Amino acid sequence: MDKINSLRGMPDFYSDALISWTPVENKLEEIFRAFSISEIRTPIMEYTDLFKRSVGDTSDIVNKEIYSFNDRNDQSISLRPEGTAGVIRSVIEKKLDQQQSKFWYMGPMFRYERPQKGRYRQFHQAGIEFLGYQEGQADFELIALVCSIVNGLDIKNAKLKINHLGDKDSKIKFARSLVKFLEPYKDQMDEKDLERLNKNPLRILDSKDKKIQEILKDAPSLSDFISDSANSLLSTIQKTFGDQCIIEIDNKLVRGLDYYTGLVFEACSSDLGAQDAFIGGGRYDNLANALGGKDMPAIGLAIGLERLISISSVSKLDEKKVVFISSTSNIAPLAFKIANQLRITNSKISLDMDLTDSSIKAKLRRANKTDASHAFIFGDEEMSNKRVIVKSLLEDTEQVSMSIDECIDFYKEI
Ligand code: AMP
Repeated sequence: MDKINSLRGMPDFYSDALISWTPVENKLEEIFRAFSISEIRTPIMEYTDLFKRSVGDTSDIVNKEIYSFNDRNDQSISLRPEGTAGVIRSVIEKKLDQQQSKFWYMGPMFRYERPQKGRYRQFHQAGIEFLGYQEGQADFELIALVCSIVNGLDIKNAKLKINHLGDKDSKIKFARSLVKFLEPYKDQMDEKDLERLNKNPLRILDSKDKKIQEILKDAPSLSDFISDSANSLLSTIQKTFGDQCIIEIDNKLVRGLDYYTGLVFEACSSDLGAQDAFIGGGRYDNLANALGGKDMPAIGLAIGLERLISISSVSKLDEKKVVFISSTSNIAPLAFKIANQLRITNSKISLDMDLTDSSIKAKLRRANKTDASHAFIFGDEEMSNKRVIVKSLLEDTEQVSMSIDECIDFYKEI
């Protein structure tokens, strides 16, 4: 029969890869707790309309990348391409949109993109949402959090780019003047940029086309359309956190999702290669309203975990390992009891019970090929006199026969 493969861009993770995930996830949780942020878990599927109304009909994510299907009830459902929409949907539903909250989440996201290094169709994000907070203090707190992530996870060659998109009105005014400026250059644009110009002109600033970037050098600047207070927010952030992280004001940073207003930012590292952003975020004061809730100013960010993990030098899990080997001429129920007592005694050690039917000799040979430090052997003789042999697999020392109590004491100190 033909074998069935995984979907393109949706990798499996085995422990050799996951061993770098756990310390990073743990460190992130530690940072989130240090900022007194509560966890939220929302479903990975939502009604498609939620993403159309939040991420935006004009965004690439909703137009080309969303995984949608009709359920048995003929309703259009989508796998979440990002986490913010579900969180806002949830707080509106629970009537929490009139209070302040700070949430974090972690989980898989789905986008039908062209898979390449750093870009997958199922990938993982950790995200933060500060809900119910006006522009000001929450913006500083979130940038402080970005600095804590960059430093706490020991990210090298990181740069934080920040920009301010103004409010809804200034965004519209700037978009109009950008369209007017670009009118004479339309015939030099490819299909993608022409579509951006028609549907969401600010996204042109993101164009990868060198010719367009050259033209944009003389284009009106967003900073001319936003208020003095917005410009001063950017420079104060830069001054305040400049000693913790390299911060650059980038008036061309617009971010891919339609819902952003106010402060937007992106953290990049040159160690990542072409897909160099590992955190993206910004303010989205109009999102709750667009989703049927009350006015709720808010700011948030999303961290791409695959990318963060690939550049973090947070230490790998340093796990102690031992092997438990019991006789198979008779199955020894007591062996499982002793092994469990040991696990309770020191839960930091990983105890691998060899479950094969091979001989003790063969099991020991196998144990020697692992990175376990000790083998605990419970053969026929040990079964009858209720003792355990402890053998070092790292040093060439004599094995020792111990009573069960002695063995438990020894296990505490490994
Ligand atoms: P976004 O939700 O597009 O603002 O993305 C936030 C972060 O998620 C990015 O900076 C990336 O680190 C990560 N990310 C976005 N799309 C992908 C993808 N297809 N594969 C892997 N990581 C991604």
